[in-house]
Amino acid sequence: MRSPITEPPWRRVDVPPAAPLTGRVTADVAIVGAGLTGLATAYYLISRDPSLDVVLLDAGRPGAGASGRGTGLLGPRVGPAIDKARRRYGDETARACYEASVGWVRQVVRLAGDLGADCGLTTGGQLMVANSPRAAEALARQADAYRELGLDPAPLPDPGRFRAALRFPVAATLDPAALVAALAAEVAGRGVRRFDHSPVRSLGAGELVLPYGTVRARRTVVAVNGFVRSLALPVGTVAPLEVHAVATAPLPAALRAELGPEPVIDVTPLAPYYRLTPQGRLVMGGGPVNGRAERAWAWLAERLPGGTEVTHRWSGRIGMTGDDLPVVGEAVPGVWFAGGCCGHGLALSVASGAYLADALLGEAPPPLPWHRARAPWLPTAGPARPVLEAYLRLLTRRAARDGAALRFST
Ligand SMILES: Cc1cc2nc3c(=O)[nH]c(=O)nc-3n(C[C@H](O)[C@H](O)[C@H](O)COP(=O)(O)OP(=O)(O)OC[C@H]3O[C@@H](n4cnc5c(N)ncnc54)[C@H](O)[C@@H]3O)c2cc1C
Repeated sequence: MRSPITEPPWRRVDVPPAAPLTGRVTADVAIVGAGLTGLATAYYLISRDPSLDVVLLDAGRPGAGASGRGTGLLGPRVGPAIDKARRRYGDETARACYEASVGWVRQVVRLAGDLGADCGLTTGGQLMVANSPRAAEALARQADAYRELGLDPAPLPDPGRFRAALRFPVAATLDPAALVAALAAEVAGRGVRRFDHSPVRSLGAGELVLPYGTVRARRTVVAVNGFVRSLALPVGTVAPLEVHAVATAPLPAALRAELGPEPVIDVTPLAPYYRLTPQGRLVMGGGPVNGRAERAWAWLAERLPGGTEVTHRWSGRIGMTGDDLPVVGEAVPGVWFAGGCCGHGLALSVASGAYLADALLGEAPPPLPWHRARAPWLPTAGPARPVLEAYLRLLTRRAARDGAALRFST
């Protein structure tokens, strides 16, 4: 058996390279970060006002961060579980948050179609499952909340091999790297100037400083997600978290049938989640975070169906906040930030880009709880950091105990 490749199994982000930025550049809008958030911001800005001069900078290249390395589950939901969201924000806002998140899924599906992206888009539902009594109780609380709010996720009457399952009818799966590539090609075609290998070192009054040049722009969008700490932008704590995934060789038809056609996420945080690709590979993420990648990949591999071969394994950095909600707002005058999607950014990043484009053009829709300048503080450094690490270890132990191992008779 060959050693697994340390990349996702789909195409790498396939875009022509762009030169690094040198000298003094001016623009109407500078966007820092060419992941899905930055690219979507550029796309919606230029779609709404083609006369804008937009510059897009990345420390690496498009999709170098999480966006080129996601597992490709496009699902609704944002922030805390719906029962907690009701308690925290009230029924009306909890309902509005869920409905907004369903809208984003539809928006990404539409966007992939408009771009003609060859990204293996597969629409359908998504299952949230429980595999232990404790998890089933948590899932039942969510099911009750959705029902009481008149929303469409509903328990499966026959959850099959799960203890309980809640089905979200509007969801999809896709190859996120191909969506990144399609967006990057589209914005380049519409005149957005992109500079690769151009890390922004600091943000001053209307000026970005890079190793070999500067950018002066009236407005700046910072879309660096889990990398924001190095820019010292006052957005509260968007903690960098390394997360991991594996993919198998294409599975036999009988095993694919047992897994079922719809992607599965676990109600237990960090427990394994998975989907099948159009080629029949099983892609699974979850497990220990911020530890050694080898350990996390082994943890995931132990939970795969017996006899399956791991052909790919990879990791990436996401941005986490203390209240599970992202930050999408004006951090300091003229500088906007969007990030902290807590690992659910495939739909949310595109939605954040659309929101920022509207906001920059003075047309922001009514705010929802994540439209804010800062996330709450978390002890990511200093004497309280061990508390956060202990909490992550506790979540990993619970995920091992309560999450599913995909062992079948096949
Ligand atoms: C393994 C893995 C699996 C995931 N699976 C899913 C999933 O199934 N479903 C889902 O919804 N979400 C998933 N996610 C999360 C999702 O991929 C992210 O939320 C989303 O891609 C974030 O996009 P972004 O553009 O905000 O950030 P990123 O894609 O991280 O982009 C940030 C960009 O900023 C650049 N940058 C950083 N610092 C600087 C600087 N100083 N100057 C210039 N550029 C800079 C980086 O190079 C990078 O390209 C997953 C993430 C990972 C890592």
